[in-house]
Amino acid sequence: MTYHTLTYTREIPLSEQEDVLVAGGGPAGIAAAVAAARLGARTRLVDQHGFLGGNLTAGLVGPCMTSFSLDGKEQLIRGVFDEFVRRMAETGEALHPSQTHAGDEYAGFIEYGHDKVTPFEPEAAKTVALAMCAEAGVELSLHSFVTDTLVENGQVSGIVVATKSGLRGLRAKVTVDCTGDGDVAARAGAEVEFGRASDGLVQPMTLFFRVQGIDDETVHAYVRDHPEDVRPFAGIVACAREAGRFPSPRRGVGLYKTLRPGVWRINTTRILGRDGTDVDDLTSAEVEGRAQVTALMEFFRTELPGFADASLLDTATTIGVRETRRVVGDYVLTIDDLRTGRHFDDVIALCAYPVDIHDPTGSGGGVAPEYGTANAYEIPYRSLLPRGLDGVMVAGRCVSASHEALGAIRVMPPAFAMGEAAGTAAALAARSGRSARDLPTPELQHQLLAQGAYLGEPAPGSPVS
Ligand SMILES: Cc1cc2nc3c(=O)[nH]c(=O)nc-3n(C[C@H](O)[C@H](O)[C@H](O)COP(=O)(O)OP(=O)(O)OC[C@H]3O[C@@H](n4cnc5c(N)ncnc54)[C@H](O)[C@@H]3O)c2cc1C
Repeated sequence: MTYHTLTYTREIPLSEQEDVLVAGGGPAGIAAAVAAARLGARTRLVDQHGFLGGNLTAGLVGPCMTSFSLDGKEQLIRGVFDEFVRRMAETGEALHPSQTHAGDEYAGFIEYGHDKVTPFEPEAAKTVALAMCAEAGVELSLHSFVTDTLVENGQVSGIVVATKSGLRGLRAKVTVDCTGDGDVAARAGAEVEFGRASDGLVQPMTLFFRVQGIDDETVHAYVRDHPEDVRPFAGIVACAREAGRFPSPRRGVGLYKTLRPGVWRINTTRILGRDGTDVDDLTSAEVEGRAQVTALMEFFRTELPGFADASLLDTATTIGVRETRRVVGDYVLTIDDLRTGRHFDDVIALCAYPVDIHDPTGSGGGVAPEYGTANAYEIPYRSLLPRGLDGVMVAGRCVSASHEALGAIRVMPPAFAMGEAAGTAAALAARSGRSARDLPTPELQHQLLAQGAYLGEPAPGSPVS
């Protein structure tokens, strides 16, 4: 379709100024809003959907990858994330990561980097997210899509949302961009990077789905008897691919056991060459994703041991987008920082999930030991501050990092940790009348520790920045 330009002006309702506005209610946004509101900040959380969770819920993504150190000994991501998981576990709708193991069915039978994952039920994530927000005093604006950013005197002062009630302006002292795509920061003119340095290509999209009626024991027995398969059923998939019968450009079946007997999450559709910030690409990706689900279900039933009686339980509400804009911040986290476990004086989170880059052009990729990431690595506060912009912070998938470093920190527990740090900083900044950039980091770190975050001990001899 060809578009022409229309200049369009109109008056819209403008809210009173909140202390903290959080755009995007995924893992980063939930943690940011809860943390900010608990510190007494008048906080509003905005999301396009009618429920919270982002990829936790709308994306049907799971399990939460590791929140522990690579050796599985230390829980690095605690705070709001740990509380969120424990609340779901109380009703039997999640397993605390300390109870799962590398290579088990919850880890997709993958060993490296997959110790201590968190299987959970997406409906429980919706319920617990809403409950934690309500208890903290977070105001919600659901069904609200961020279309623009308000910038006054060179400072971000809020956002414009499109709603059933029309356009609305929402103002705040600090806006935290947790949209995953950096929509708020990008529309304020932030410097952004996109994809690999070599060609700008991003990781492929995936439409998650869940399958019921699986014979769990047969799947376990097959996986046990085929240790040569790098991923479950890789041998069967390879034969089918050679014969042109495997309906997705992916090497194996991404298969994660849920807490319900016979129900597994499937991370196997792969949609290449799309831009998650382009509505036409998103539209075609949804269509292609659903076609792959239908074809994969047919393949699974006829060709995979344990799947003869399988049926489709559900598909994700939205296509899963692994990578789009990375907002360039005061510091850009690099793969070298992750390898060396570089200590930052302004550390706000520790993580350990390894680099996991799905091939933008083909069937390969996945969690990669060859990057040699440290047992624990740090994220600095400066990566949450968009370079040259005040009044806005970023957390979650759109944080300031290289393509390779983002390939590791893009998963859900780090998003919670970054969100908690950003929401805490935003509340402290709003309370004191300072910009988030001028907040002394020891003050932020002290508050994070008081909330139960873990900021680690620098390893002797590790580089300092
Ligand atoms: C296919 C796939 C598989 C993955 N597998 C795993 C896995 O197994 N384990 C794991 O831990 N992680 C996994 N990840 C990574 C992880 O899900 C995401 O990177 C993580 O959810 C990022 O959190 P976030 O809060 O930054 O963004 P999101 O979870 O994307 O949340 C962003 C929120 O912002 C809202 N939003 C976005 N734009 C707007 C707008 N303009 N207006 C209003 N609202 C908006 C969205 O509705 C959403 O609620 C996977 C990701 C994908 C796509």
